[in-house]
Amino acid sequence: MKIIKEGKIPTTTIRFYCGNCGCVFECEKGECTYCGDQRNSDYYTAKCPTCRKRVYTDVMTMKKDRITFVVHTMSDYDLSQAQENILTSLSGIPGVFNMPHCIDIPGIEILFRCGDPETCLGGLRPDYYVSNSISGLEFLRQSAEKCDGKRLKDIDELCNKVIELVKEK
Ligand SMILES: [Zn+2]
Repeated sequence: MKIIKEGKIPTTTIRFYCGNCGCVFECEKGECTYCGDQRNSDYYTAKCPTCRKRVYTDVMTMKKDRITFVVHTMSDYDLSQAQENILTSLSGIPGVFNMPHCIDIPGIEILFRCGDPETCLGGLRPDYYVSNSISGLEFLRQSAEKCDGKRLKDIDELCNKVIELVKEK
């Protein structure tokens, strides 16, 4: 068999937002309950890990494609600097949500990973990536090939790309 163009493996994680306490969390499909509903739309449900309140999401929310940016550095210091710089550049954008090692914007996630590429970058499918190490770039290049991902020159280019994508929506 010859693959002409590799497909994109659909996401198996579902993201929940708890309106009660503000917690944002992700579950594998197997970890939450699927409920078919003929009158309304189908939805998944899970218990909030922080306040234990039941949280619901509908399948339509999940189907929306999320664009993944990956930022990789070899040191914690460089990583937190990068995250701070990105936050500052995106301060005018509504819905920016800052978490440890992740900035979440509706439809977009920016993941921050630090250290040995083999251990910290496995299983990622970056649509865009940036790294300050040769081994990181090589690892991310191979992951990105599977989903038509593109390398970005630096943090400035990443911020411009995010702003451009937000404006398109
Ligand atoms: Zn909660």
